[in-house]
Amino acid sequence: MTSSHSTPDSASRQARLIIIGAGFAGLGLGMRLRQRGDTDFLVLERAADVGGTWRDNDYPGCACDVPSHLYSFSFRPNPNWSRVFSPGPEIQQYLRECARESGLLPHIRFGTDMLAARWQAECRRWVIETNHGDFEAEVLITATGHLADERLPEVPGLDSFTGEVFHSARWNHQAELKGKRIGVVGSGASAIQVVPQMAEVASELVVFQRSAAYVIPRADRAYTAAEQRLFARDPERMHALRSEFFWNGEYNFAQRRNVPRYLQEAKDLALGHLARQVSDPVLRQKLTPDYEVGCKRLLISNDYFPALSRPNVTLEASALARVEGSQGVAANGASHTLDVLVLATGFEATRPPFAKRVFGSAGHSLDAQWDQGMQAFDSIAVNGFPNLFILNGPNTGLGHNSVVYIIEAQVDYLLEALDHMRQQQIAVLEADAQAEDAYMDALHQRSQGTVWLAGGCKSWYVDPRSGRLTLVWPDYAHAFRDANGHFHPEGYHPTPATPST
Ligand SMILES: Cc1cc2nc3c(=O)[nH]c(=O)nc-3n(C[C@H](O)[C@H](O)[C@H](O)COP(=O)(O)OP(=O)(O)OC[C@H]3O[C@@H](n4cnc5c(N)ncnc54)[C@H](O)[C@@H]3O)c2cc1C
Repeated sequence: MTSSHSTPDSASRQARLIIIGAGFAGLGLGMRLRQRGDTDFLVLERAADVGGTWRDNDYPGCACDVPSHLYSFSFRPNPNWSRVFSPGPEIQQYLRECARESGLLPHIRFGTDMLAARWQAECRRWVIETNHGDFEAEVLITATGHLADERLPEVPGLDSFTGEVFHSARWNHQAELKGKRIGVVGSGASAIQVVPQMAEVASELVVFQRSAAYVIPRADRAYTAAEQRLFARDPERMHALRSEFFWNGEYNFAQRRNVPRYLQEAKDLALGHLARQVSDPVLRQKLTPDYEVGCKRLLISNDYFPALSRPNVTLEASALARVEGSQGVAANGASHTLDVLVLATGFEATRPPFAKRVFGSAGHSLDAQWDQGMQAFDSIAVNGFPNLFILNGPNTGLGHNSVVYIIEAQVDYLLEALDHMRQQQIAVLEADAQAEDAYMDALHQRSQGTVWLAGGCKSWYVDPRSGRLTLVWPDYAHAFRDANGHFHPEGYHPTPATPST
């Protein structure tokens, strides 16, 4: 599938739209734009390749937690997924193919880091400063992701570590792991994928676990060649499967709403999995969470618990408190000699770094405006930041379903907004402050009683400054599309275009 649409000049520095980031969100928007013949856009990507999350997270064992036939673009199904939950490199390959086939590559400026973006009211444009000079756009779209910037733990003495230390999202493929004493810090979604792989190669593996996770079985298997052929011949089968996976995911949301029956069901599933896989009562106790199920991300794995039961593996049910040379010292005082330290400590999610770089009409940054946490009208636009749209930003994260579904709903919204601007000859759209506050108040109401706020755990879904849910969408995924799958002009102040603009 090649496109006949025109492409921007390789030297162009101006476009109607500039998109920051070439992960699922930036690529999805770019593909939809090209599909409908819009070619006046550029994508600025700081790295050398597309893929975002799936380019950066190339640690051993990386895979998606949502079935691939759902965790992919609805408008670009892939009959060749090898498994129900595909490995990371396969998703990265899919995204590369999407970018290439849709003719997106000439739009992308790789190695181009957005250092600052400033709204220029007099010319009604965004000026985007990068390491490769300035770019200008009428509309700026950030697609920089929730999980693009790794969070390093503040562990005293980390700099003094005598071995190799790296974050799971910046895997050091040169580091020798075989026969080494490896420490993994963390017990979240990345850690439970890394740990079984490290257990295979390490002479000793120590896992520093601040809090235990609920882990449920992973219903994974390989697709047969016959199934793949069938998917290719009859795409309806893929659509049906996608729909089945989607509604299974939606069913799981009932737990997050704190409905006792569903909570109990999820808890039984997770604790039953633990009981079946871990026979040692001491280890099992350490792995039993002390908060309500669903409050943190529910993890899926079949090989995490068995890995922890291996003789070369120690689970330290305690955070890493400090490092002294080659010693990793846990908060409970236990000290371990280590050669390699893997930090599976998550990402800067509630205070996204891009927000420090975007300056609105009053001259202050989005980060300053969000001093009590992220917020946006319809989860996409912010008062004081005209012609800025944020994809996969405030209140768009999901713990129970595919983020790609949310991104697609936002892309639909955005395309309608762009059409509205064109049809109504509007130069500038700015979210109304009251509409934004009303939207946020309504979201806050929806969040009440959910496990994230009432489940007794500290999670990255909640902003510590306000205690509000700012990252995650507090409802079913289909409710996001119902609410935000269409543009709402009544929530914006339009400024008409004049002949000179
Ligand atoms: C290990 C892992 C597994 C995951 N598994 C799942 C899953 O199973 N299901 C699910 O729904 N979600 C999952 N997620 C969440 C995942 O992040 C999203 O599903 C999705 O990939 C986000 O896409 P995105 O385009 O919004 O962001 P990203 O993929 O993070 O892409 C953002 C892009 O913006 C670029 N960028 C950032 N700042 C700048 C700048 N200043 N200038 C230029 N470029 C910039 C980055 O380099 C990056 O390429 C997972 C995340 C991780 C880390």
